[in-house]
Amino acid sequence: MTIKHTTFAVALMLSACATSALTTMEDDYLAWPVYNGDDLELKVDATGTHFTLWSPEAEAVKVLLYDSDLNTPATDTLTMHRSTQGTWRADVPEQLYGKFYTFTVTVNGRELAETPGIWAKATGTNGLRTAIIDLDSTDPDGWSTDRGPKLDNITDAVIYEVHHRDFSMHPSSGIVHKGKFLAMTEPSTTNPDGLSTGIDHLKELGVTHVHILPSYDYNSVDESNLAANQYNWGYDPFNYNTPEGSYSTDPANPAARIREMKEMVKALHDAGIGVVMDVVYNHTANNDDSNFSLTAPGYFYRHRADGSYSDASACGNETASEREMMRNFIVNSVKYWADEYHIDGFRFDLMAIHDTETMNRVAAELKKINPSIFVYGEGWTAGDSPLPVERRALKENVDKMKGIAVFSDDIRDAVKGHYSNAADRGFATGKPGNEETVKIGIVASTAHPQVDYSKGNNSKFAYAGAPTQIINYVSCHDDLTLTDKLAASMPGSTEAERQRAARLAQTIVFTSQGTPFMFAGEEVFRDKKGVHNSYKSPDDINAIDWTLKSANKEQYDYYRNLIRLRREHPAFRMTTAEDIARNIVFDDITAPNVVSYSIRNNANGDVWKEIKIVFNGSTVPFTAKIPSADWTVIARDGSLNPDGLGTSKGGTIVVEPTSALILARTK
Ligand code: CA
Repeated sequence: MTIKHTTFAVALMLSACATSALTTMEDDYLAWPVYNGDDLELKVDATGTHFTLWSPEAEAVKVLLYDSDLNTPATDTLTMHRSTQGTWRADVPEQLYGKFYTFTVTVNGRELAETPGIWAKATGTNGLRTAIIDLDSTDPDGWSTDRGPKLDNITDAVIYEVHHRDFSMHPSSGIVHKGKFLAMTEPSTTNPDGLSTGIDHLKELGVTHVHILPSYDYNSVDESNLAANQYNWGYDPFNYNTPEGSYSTDPANPAARIREMKEMVKALHDAGIGVVMDVVYNHTANNDDSNFSLTAPGYFYRHRADGSYSDASACGNETASEREMMRNFIVNSVKYWADEYHIDGFRFDLMAIHDTETMNRVAAELKKINPSIFVYGEGWTAGDSPLPVERRALKENVDKMKGIAVFSDDIRDAVKGHYSNAADRGFATGKPGNEETVKIGIVASTAHPQVDYSKGNNSKFAYAGAPTQIINYVSCHDDLTLTDKLAASMPGSTEAERQRAARLAQTIVFTSQGTPFMFAGEEVFRDKKGVHNSYKSPDDINAIDWTLKSANKEQYDYYRNLIRLRREHPAFRMTTAEDIARNIVFDDITAPNVVSYSIRNNANGDVWKEIKIVFNGSTVPFTAKIPSADWTVIARDGSLNPDGLGTSKGGTIVVEPTSALILARTK
């Protein structure tokens, strides 16, 4: 098995992209019959067990039945018969619960390797054979009444991106089920100093949603050898509709991974926290050996004119969402996770490999299941694609996708410096020239009369129609952690200086319009020892050291207060571009690395009539002129408290280097 990965934060230079028309061969796929039934691959009912495989070009299809998940011979082979709309069927009059199966497809006179299919909802070890189980038996107690948090708008979310192993593997986590789904179900865990870890930590921090890195069954970690403690981010999909086995306590037991993931979701829901899944429909771990290729060869991927796999993912292939059965697959797969696992949101990896029509269908179908579900993604590809630029679910096309949000690489790079140039500094670390792009971040890439997009570093136009279409962040699993980025770009600095820069950077993110997103552990100033692409680095690079929560207590308290500030004040969570244009007024400042603005008019129903915010990312003090009023000081000189640090009558106020000044008045 080839393990491939690219760093997914590769923003594509659109102008450098050749746009090619889809080739003739690609058009042929569009003519393949489409099957819309909801019984694909496996259905068990009172009349028995029913297999239905969609494979229009197959010459023969068989089902192989097994007694176990690995290393046993088939106990029976069923020959499927050709049915309607490209499907093949076989039926058994018994309910085959407890059995496993695979399909084999013959095309062009050649029988392909066995596949569990593309709709395996339960599997054994390494996902090689599909398990026939009663899904209802995997529901934890109280599952029928389980609900995620109700959310009126995505901008009300505070998203915390976490990998299962990062969260719990370190000895200081105090968690029993380290590296497992169950880690997030354990109450009352602490670090050696008695400070909370695990789910209690999440509640205390105040995030509204955890975004879990890929948790479907991926390819790279050998589930038959968990003692090897392999680590992988999981951007190498194998079975899209079953959980990853290495996160369960028993990968050989098909029900265990399902039940334990549901228990995780339920524990988080009981804590008032939603669960966002990172989904990677844009490519598969394998090419000719993927489950897509072994089921209906060719159909699910885009190709170049010479017939080779096109590769907009930089992982060896790219899927073809514009073809109806691939689009159906993506839509039905997210619907399945929302229905069966009560998932509250989806993050689409390299979303621009998909077409805008598919993403609009995804958003619309999910909203029917639960109006609180939200969808966001990376609005870029990692390479060129045969899909025309205007159809790609790009950041620049987000206004064609009203129910979808995209990551803002604008605010990310402007605040901390370029994502891949480690030494590059940004607004928060003293590099001038980022002021207008910080303003673009503050208004969530919406049109604003005082923001000049021609001066934007990454984007040259107001691409978002609403702040609900923007995810703000300064770090994620990709690239250097904020801690490591600051260390790399601030040589000779002290840790206290770097923590101060992190506070300013995140204060910009969390007070900006749009939805804030943070990488797990940043609140305790976690690092990854300078490793920027840690996708398969060992736990000693990736695991969060929870003793940092004690060592960096002030930093942690700042983050916690920052999240509380945002959640208590709707002025930071406006929902329309019109509100932002009306309520946000920038001050005319010419000093480098300073941005100063007000949020006025009790914006979005806030109790605060006006909020004055001054960011000073320079190395010298800035003297702000504040109108006379009865102000409450919310943030100053590296400290922040939503309840107030003191009062001010306005006038001249010195904003210290690398800090935010936030004032609020109610009259
Ligand atoms: Ca796996």
